[in-house]
Amino acid sequence: MSRSLLMIYTGGTIGMKQDDKTKALVPFDFSQIVREVPELKKFGYKIDTYSFDPVIDSSDITPTFWVELCKVIKNNYKKYDGFVILHGTDTMSYTASALSFMLENLEKPIILTGSQLPIGMLRTDGKENIISSIEIAAAKRGDGKAMVPEVCIYFESQLYRGNRTIKYNAENFRAFRSVNYQVLAEVGIHIKYNPHLINYPKSWGKQLKISDKLDTNVAILKIYPGIIKQAIDSILFSTWSKAIVLETFGSGNAPTSREFLESIKKAIKNGKIIVNVTQCQAGSVDMKAYATGASLEKLGVISGYDGTTEATLCKLFVLMGKYSDKEEIKKKMKQSLRGEITII
Ligand code: ASP
Repeated sequence: MSRSLLMIYTGGTIGMKQDDKTKALVPFDFSQIVREVPELKKFGYKIDTYSFDPVIDSSDITPTFWVELCKVIKNNYKKYDGFVILHGTDTMSYTASALSFMLENLEKPIILTGSQLPIGMLRTDGKENIISSIEIAAAKRGDGKAMVPEVCIYFESQLYRGNRTIKYNAENFRAFRSVNYQVLAEVGIHIKYNPHLINYPKSWGKQLKISDKLDTNVAILKIYPGIIKQAIDSILFSTWSKAIVLETFGSGNAPTSREFLESIKKAIKNGKIIVNVTQCQAGSVDMKAYATGASLEKLGVISGYDGTTEATLCKLFVLMGKYSDKEEIKKKMKQSLRGEITII
């Protein structure tokens, strides 16, 4: 079974090893990855590597970097069966979300992974994460098509749809969670795929397209008891923002004070797109459930359903970069484009 895969290194903990002399963590030469993970040879696959230069801590990731990443994928798309991206964990959910919306007609696996402990450390979780990611990126169905043609995160024995994840734990090996969508595969003695949960193209053979214009004029407004009007208004009426991700309570509820609702009404009248996501980690916005949410819906606030803040933000970046017509953006925000929301 010959397969060819491209492993792309962006930076992060996974690519670090301890300097023999100083004991400080330094990035290792990625072209030597097989020396660090000799198990990779046992696959018998052709595994090529591509390293960004310089490599970066994922806290420094920018939309410009996402565009570069998409270009590397597009330029190499035909040559490889799948892609594994090594990435810092801190913003991996943002990158996975952004990539899922930027790449259209994806038919090959893009598996992001990383580690909590550097690859050069004895108890590293990085090796297993890399090895299983490679196996998943190479996996095919009986008909020869990719088993998981999606942008995913693989971490600590679970494969997630990338745009459903959040970084959940800063210390544990299980660093990610996808609370509102089940795992696409579970890795134990066998890799158990859940094909009924995986998004497959309706028709195969379409050309990969990338959206390389992102508009980042999006603000996040997290409400909390005691939030003052100036704080709310400084975000809703900021001159630069075109859209606002409104992080509300529970199933999409916000204060019912006239003052707050007037500000929302005025912002929408001024042309702002406001999307309601919940501060809860699980469950969905349902603006019909309580009067507090219903008032928002009446004013034209859009439901973000059970989407994460990360995915909602990145979806707005991509849609706003692609369309100038606000109604089109709003329409698309209400649809599940890459399985990022469950519409109720
Ligand atoms: N700060 C690192 C990063 O996100 C942490 C990690 O790799 O896990 O790049």
